Amino acid sequence: MELSYIQDCASCGAPIEATEADRVVECQYCDVRNYMVKTGPLRFALPHMIPDTVDESDILHIPYLRFKGHIYSCTGDGLHHSIVDTTQLGCSSSTLPASLGLRPQAMQIRLVAADSRGRFLKLTEQVKEIFFKAANLTTAFAAKSESPLYHRAYIGETISYIYLPTYCREGRLFDGVLNRPLAAGIDVDGLLKKASAAREQWLPRYITTICPHCAALMTAASDSLVMQCFNCESLWLEKKGRFGRMKSGFVAADRGDTYLPFWRISAELTGVKLSSFADFLRLTNHPMVIRGQHEQMEHSFWIPAFKLRPKYFLKTAKNITVSQYRIPGKSTDMPKNLYPVTMPLTEAVQSLKTVLTSAAVNKKKFMSSLPRIKTTGPRAELVYLPFHQLGQDLVQDHTSVTINGKTLYYGRTM
Ligand SMILES: [Zn+2]
Ligand SMILES: [Zn+2]
Repeated sequence: MELSYIQDCASCGAPIEATEADRVVECQYCDVRNYMVKTGPLRFALPHMIPDTVDESDILHIPYLRFKGHIYSCTGDGLHHSIVDTTQLGCSSSTLPASLGLRPQAMQIRLVAADSRGRFLKLTEQVKEIFFKAANLTTAFAAKSESPLYHRAYIGETISYIYLPTYCREGRLFDGVLNRPLAAGIDVDGLLKKASAAREQWLPRYITTICPHCAALMTAASDSLVMQCFNCESLWLEKKGRFGRMKSGFVAADRGDTYLPFWRISAELTGVKLSSFADFLRLTNHPMVIRGQHEQMEHSFWIPAFKLRPKYFLKTAKNITVSQYRIPGKSTDMPKNLYPVTMPLTEAVQSLKTVLTSAAVNKKKFMSSLPRIKTTGPRAELVYLPFHQLGQDLVQDHTSVTINGKTLYYGRTM
């Protein structure tokens, strides 16, 4: 479930409600549109009811790590995937509450400001350790733990910190949200000694959404990673706090109701031969007659640059990759109806081995070769493919690959 929170407008200071996935922040008061540059996980605090009489030095924020994403596992008995949405204690303690339950979703949380009262305990549990715990909690993995694990990938993940405000009174730690004492026996002084004040660099930075090329105002949906300039027909991606122009293509069609973005990735895979499309067909044993043109065609992975539930993400990546020979090279001017990019390239690259496995006819046999396959030097281009509306479905014009409208909607809001 998406978290929503309040942040201050970088231009006028007015409160803006945003969700965890939002990058484009538009203020209703001053009309300014900014792009959020993340310098690390976002840090939120639950709203507190700490009495004013409590001294600032007695206020302690306990860190929880929130992880939301998809976990794909290739094990001896099959390809498994699962959605994980969890909040776990970020420091080792047997006495502090292990989880925040549903409180972050139910309460009005805020970004931690540099001048927040009190001290903040450091995250001491390794992020990966917390993921593994989360993954093992899911039934799909618990039941299959006997089988060898050949490959595991985390894709489409969101990581944030959520702090529980607490305070110390007469040597006892109190939950600052409910004003109730926490379990006895917590070494409060020890915890306070390990904590430090909030830092300026914990807050995200914001950059203006003016096109670096023509100075027109760029647009994008609030959760989009890519900004569009329709004045000079260009796309821009933020990297290290600046917008860089994106290499992109738009495949021409007679009728493109919506253009969905895909990362077209060419990568060197050590351990297997995969330079041509014919290699791909041989490697996956795909039941298709290999022709001379397939030998000449460079192989690319076509990975959705938008979030979908795991089952549909794999299915779409596999179906477009398998039928890439049908996509014409002819491109068109930048269309107006571009679907937002919500899946970063770095995560799309993480999915390559899983997509390859899902395309293999004999998955179990193929999986045992996964540990020796390494992905190196991926080159990528963002390609928008035209889809036309057919009832509830969106159908890709050249490959007939279909995505249901509801599937798109749920992928974006999960
Ligand atoms: Zn404003
Ligand atoms: Zn422009």
